[in-house]
Amino acid sequence: MSHQIDTFIEDNGIKYILAQFVDIHGVAKTKSVPAHCLMDVVESGAGFAGFAVWGLGMEPHGPDFMARGDLDTLSIVPWQPGYARIVCDGHVNGKPHPYDSRVVLKKQVKLLADKGWTLNTGLEPEFSLFKRNSDGSLAMVDDSDVLDKPCYDYKGLSRSREFLETLVESLQQLDFDVYQIDHEDANGQFEINYTYGDALESADRFTMVRMAAGEIANDLGMVCSFMPKPASDRTGNGMHFHLSIADQDGNNLFHDDSDANGMGLSKLAYHFTAGLLHHAKALCAFAAPTVNSYKRLVVGGSASGATWAPAYIAYGDNNRSAMVRIPYGRLEFRLPDAGCNPYLVHAALIAAGLDGIERELDPGEPQNINFYTISDAERQQKGIDILPQNLNEALDALEANSVLKERLGSEIVEEFLKVKRAEWIEYSRHVSDWEVQRYAEFF
Ligand code: GLU
Ligand code: MG
Repeated sequence: MSHQIDTFIEDNGIKYILAQFVDIHGVAKTKSVPAHCLMDVVESGAGFAGFAVWGLGMEPHGPDFMARGDLDTLSIVPWQPGYARIVCDGHVNGKPHPYDSRVVLKKQVKLLADKGWTLNTGLEPEFSLFKRNSDGSLAMVDDSDVLDKPCYDYKGLSRSREFLETLVESLQQLDFDVYQIDHEDANGQFEINYTYGDALESADRFTMVRMAAGEIANDLGMVCSFMPKPASDRTGNGMHFHLSIADQDGNNLFHDDSDANGMGLSKLAYHFTAGLLHHAKALCAFAAPTVNSYKRLVVGGSASGATWAPAYIAYGDNNRSAMVRIPYGRLEFRLPDAGCNPYLVHAALIAAGLDGIERELDPGEPQNINFYTISDAERQQKGIDILPQNLNEALDALEANSVLKERLGSEIVEEFLKVKRAEWIEYSRHVSDWEVQRYAEFF
């Protein structure tokens, strides 16, 4: 081990390394490895029975999935003293595994790098805090958090500060530059903001956010949920992606003050936006990957007045009701929810954006209207399409999308479709409380 790594392990009292990767859902999977075996993880990888993990495309009688550590990612695990984490890339038979989400993203990142570009992304995780009742059901942690318009509420923020401070201070120890924390628009819902990074870094970091938030909440007797839509009448947990492409000198290539629309966007940014709009329905499968996600992407309001989530395929100048908002000189992709696999969303949006750039697609006029109040006739007259209204529709769109399949690799796309179709079927066959209440004595 190099001197630098030895020092890291000694100074931080590291006894175990978590060799970590994600399954196809983006959920963290780990093995705990005694610290002196770190270089085995880096050089050969920690071995996993791939069939035991969702979506690795493996069989019980095949070779091992070897998770090979990326030394650049080695960090402490602040809430778990004595532990470090290393993010791994899946290898099978010595080759990067095309079913591993991080491997899939690295391929897209390389395509950008070949052009001298880096995609920088700022992710905005939202989450909900609950406690578990003795009957197993979830209740709001803070019983007093009941306002109709709870966004930015002081009392709500103050009363969950123990959890929020522990989370933020843990992330700060990992060099996250956290700059804002707020009570979001649903009761018990919060958002944290930290400075952007490149696509791979952002995906690794978001995975760490979910690991941190989940475990810190658990230590405090709470449940931190990244479920896309915990309550039908409240806003859901989104995870907006702020996007810009930098050249080798760090200049933002999406920024151009001479933009005639006054949004500070370059031609490149317009083509990228057009790629996102053009592939929106298929992107939805990755960005909104659960049956629950589509309860967030609905037309209409919530108890606070707006869902703040997109329902239509459109972009607009600082328009929070559109799928792509333009803050100025960059894009905010508002489709993804907090339940997504950040590697697959990044990979898919790069694929879609590059297609837009290479084919010089045109996103049309920006739409600066309130989409929450637009009538269906007005929408049709403007030629604006609706996002998929359930997971199955999004999966149909992904299945029909040869561009994404070809760019991301048919292995991961087919596997994703297989896992998610099964999820859809299981959900569709489930008889819910709503159905029993509505129909049991209806006839
Ligand atoms: N929670 C909203 C969503 O589901 C986003 C709120 C916001 O604009 O920050 O997308
Ligand atoms: Mg928010």
